[in-house]
Amino acid sequence: MDFTLSARSESFRQRVQDFIEQQVLPIEQAHFSALERKGHLGDFSKWAVSEEVERLKAQAKAEGLWNLFLADPDHGAGLSTLEYAPLAEEMGRSFLAPEIFNCSAPDTGNMEVLHLFGTAMQKATWLMPLLNGDIRSVFCMTEPNVASSDATNIASSIAEDGDFLVLNGKKWWTTGLGHPKAQVGIFMGVSDAGAERHRRHSMVLFPLSAPGVSIRRMLSVFSQFDEPSGHGEVWFDQVRVPKNYLIGSLGDGFSIAQARLGPGRIHHCMRAIGAAERALGLMIARGQARTAFHQPLLKLGGNLERIANLRMAIDSARLMTLHAAWKIDTVGAMQSMKEISAIKVLAPQVLQDTVDEAIQLFGGEGLCQDSPLPALFAMARALRIVDGPDAVHRALIARLELAATRNPR
Ligand SMILES: Cc1cc2nc3c(=O)[nH]c(=O)nc-3n(C[C@H](O)[C@H](O)[C@H](O)COP(=O)(O)OP(=O)(O)OC[C@H]3O[C@@H](n4cnc5c(N)ncnc54)[C@H](O)[C@@H]3O)c2cc1C
Repeated sequence: MDFTLSARSESFRQRVQDFIEQQVLPIEQAHFSALERKGHLGDFSKWAVSEEVERLKAQAKAEGLWNLFLADPDHGAGLSTLEYAPLAEEMGRSFLAPEIFNCSAPDTGNMEVLHLFGTAMQKATWLMPLLNGDIRSVFCMTEPNVASSDATNIASSIAEDGDFLVLNGKKWWTTGLGHPKAQVGIFMGVSDAGAERHRRHSMVLFPLSAPGVSIRRMLSVFSQFDEPSGHGEVWFDQVRVPKNYLIGSLGDGFSIAQARLGPGRIHHCMRAIGAAERALGLMIARGQARTAFHQPLLKLGGNLERIANLRMAIDSARLMTLHAAWKIDTVGAMQSMKEISAIKVLAPQVLQDTVDEAIQLFGGEGLCQDSPLPALFAMARALRIVDGPDAVHRALIARLELAATRNPR
């Protein structure tokens, strides 16, 4: 295994890093402070796109730093999962950067689904505007009334009615639901309750403006609403969409979900590693600059050992994530489930541990709005649930491990 970056990947990484340092980070704190002052507290009807973010998106697009996640060279950068991973790490250093490069979830996963499984009509109607950044999208799988970490529990329904499909059910934790540009979603529901467990579900596109789609409320994460994207609860009451909005065939829901989540988890993990690097950098800078008991904070009581442990943990998580990315590129996501689950547990935990230590070294300042640490902590904690809780990934790793273990002598 050789993780040396290709020349193209290194060139993109450097340009993404420069763009974030020179254009994005300088506006980030003011951007979030302005949102706080507006204090819309979940009232998404008042949410608006930021002109500054839109301007930076246009600039990134003009510079060719756009849709970098997409392996298709005609519509994206044509990078492999391994080549894209270091770019995702750079983007993880900023909360705004993924969207500015049109590389943010859930759009990336939805675009990948449309790119891989969409019909010509679906691509023209939704994929192209998403790739252009003209609209945004949501993914509706999780439901309030069932344990959605076991996706076979998903109970919303998709019924055939002549040339239409009729969607019913309640969804929540739909990321991006509040975004003023969100126009389309992917709905997962049961289309054949009598089929084999992994052939019961299908995925269907729906316009957010369709009659019967109602956004009930936005949900906060540690009291933050992630304006203007947010995460929301949305109900479907007799929502009728033409049959050609179905993605793939009836019963394909699970196979499409697997394809959607493989590379997406690499993106999440590499962003977590970038975020951990940011937290560690902040911790070191403050620990060197501030003095207590006649010494820099870093030299007091075990802090240097903490720095060393965090460095080892971050580097381990990065190597494991690059290995998983390499394996996806080499044998495919379905053959890389153990590696994907392992990094999905490890990278958010390393981020959480790093931010926790950084907060400690920041003292009171680490808990208030003067540093990105509280938002990084919330990100880490949420990542341990998003795309499957830690426990589910651990269960899968253990199952594969037991199956692979030979009798010891
Ligand atoms: C910020 C955020 C954004 C999200 N965005 C989206 C989105 O855009 N679209 C979408 O559809 N969903 C989204 N989700 C939902 C997320 O994917 C689900 O919350 C997750 O899959 C868990 O489902 P659940 O909440 O129903 O938890 P449950 O299924 O009720 O599980 C609760 C807990 O039970 C325990 N548990 C479950 N299974 C096992 C096991 N096998 N072994 C041991 N313990 C177990 C775990 O501790 C788990 O955390 C988002 C969630 C968050 C927090």
